[in-house]
Amino acid sequence: MKHIAIVGFGGAGYCAAEAVRARDPHAKIDVYSDTNAGPYNPMLTTYYVKGSIDYNGMFPFGSLTEIGQKLNLDLHPNIQATSLSPAEKKLTFSDGSEQKFDSILFSTGASAFTPPIQGIELPRVITMRTVSDAVKLKDFISTGRIKKALVIGASWVGIKVVEDFYEHQIDCTLIDGAANIFSTAAFPQTAERIHASLEKKGIHLSFGQFLSCIEKENNGQLTAIMKNGCRFTADIIAVCIGIKTNVAFLKDSGLIINRGILVDSYMRTNFKGIYAAGDCCESPEMQSGLHKHIGLWANARIQGRIAGINMTGGNEVFTSNILINLAHYMHSDFLSIGDISACTDEDDVYEYENSPLYIRAVKKDNKLKCINILGSSENNGIIRSAFMKPMSQDLIFNDCSRAILLGAGYPESFLDFINAGSCPSA
Ligand SMILES: Cc1cc2nc3c(=O)[nH]c(=O)nc-3n(C[C@H](O)[C@H](O)[C@H](O)COP(=O)(O)OP(=O)(O)OC[C@H]3O[C@@H](n4cnc5c(N)ncnc54)[C@H](O)[C@@H]3O)c2cc1C
Repeated sequence: MKHIAIVGFGGAGYCAAEAVRARDPHAKIDVYSDTNAGPYNPMLTTYYVKGSIDYNGMFPFGSLTEIGQKLNLDLHPNIQATSLSPAEKKLTFSDGSEQKFDSILFSTGASAFTPPIQGIELPRVITMRTVSDAVKLKDFISTGRIKKALVIGASWVGIKVVEDFYEHQIDCTLIDGAANIFSTAAFPQTAERIHASLEKKGIHLSFGQFLSCIEKENNGQLTAIMKNGCRFTADIIAVCIGIKTNVAFLKDSGLIINRGILVDSYMRTNFKGIYAAGDCCESPEMQSGLHKHIGLWANARIQGRIAGINMTGGNEVFTSNILINLAHYMHSDFLSIGDISACTDEDDVYEYENSPLYIRAVKKDNKLKCINILGSSENNGIIRSAFMKPMSQDLIFNDCSRAILLGAGYPESFLDFINAGSCPSA
């Protein structure tokens, strides 16, 4: 009987457990989780704060007990893995116990990053990642005493927290050190439009602002002081300036770790029988061929499933790892696919605007580099698969996807720009 450990039970860990059980009804699957709740979806936390889902809605797979019964798992709640001896495939845990396994999966995810600055520990300085972060923010808002909020970090998480404040009619300022919102994915031309629509909704914006420290005022309010001396005072401050992978306990293990645990496309680490999946790992990215950390819910689930299959003798490969970001906030949509940092002034640029639709696509030598789309929440799958299709193959948009996109308001010129250089279909 194969003995498998799954360390960390979020979307990646859950999908791994499901895949192992589907292939091996007899495997002993030990699941180690540092909570006693079921796996939650971090991206649903802000929906709970907003009020569009209830508490249980954050747990898409059910409670830990229900999952344990359904998949016949040996559950170990409220425990952390604290070290690994890779050669023996042995884990040590926070209660001092040790255990050897045939295969181990690390699916420990990531945590909200907080800078080590004065004032970060103050009670109304919050982050947004976990269920308890969401409960804390919802509780603060429900007191009715939060009138003014500051969100630091114009990221995918930051914009969702801004949306929470906006929905609760709380005056909100969004600041960031970069020159514009979504700085790692939005072209300045795209960002300009996003800024205008946020300001129209009453959100105050300030960029080029680097946080130095946070102070508590005599009246209980908080002031974020910037490196340039600017001060922003509010009743609550949300710090959304990135994530750190939960891999510190593995740093002396011999696993190769960059920002996350390095894995190949089979989710294998540099030690046989040891795998990693989800936000704690870096896997080969298709566009660059380099290892990249891409923290996405769908990636975590697919990677977990692939690891589960391969831990039970399968040979599955993760082939869809690409930089993609989709933000739906305050009745607006922003989709970015590809690596904006690879774009240069020499590239071919396509631009189209017919409000609310805005498209900016960049390619070089008939190879798409990055696409930004504002104002379309539908058909992202078609755009994504066009991006991923090798140019030497078929028409990127076939007759069917062409018809769908034209019907959705995409201009013919965009489809031609994307298709140019690809071979006609047989
Ligand atoms: C506000 C917000 C919005 C988001 N929006 C989107 C979006 O729009 N689209 C998208 O695709 N993605 C989005 N994401 C990202 C997405 O939620 C993550 O990429 C995904 O949930 C990662 O899943 P995971 O299983 O790898 O990690 P996690 O969900 O982090 O799960 C890992 C689990 O392991 C536990 N753990 C950690 N260390 C240990 C240890 N040593 N021992 C035992 N257990 C441990 C952790 O506590 C956690 O429970 C968003 C995230 C946030 C916070």
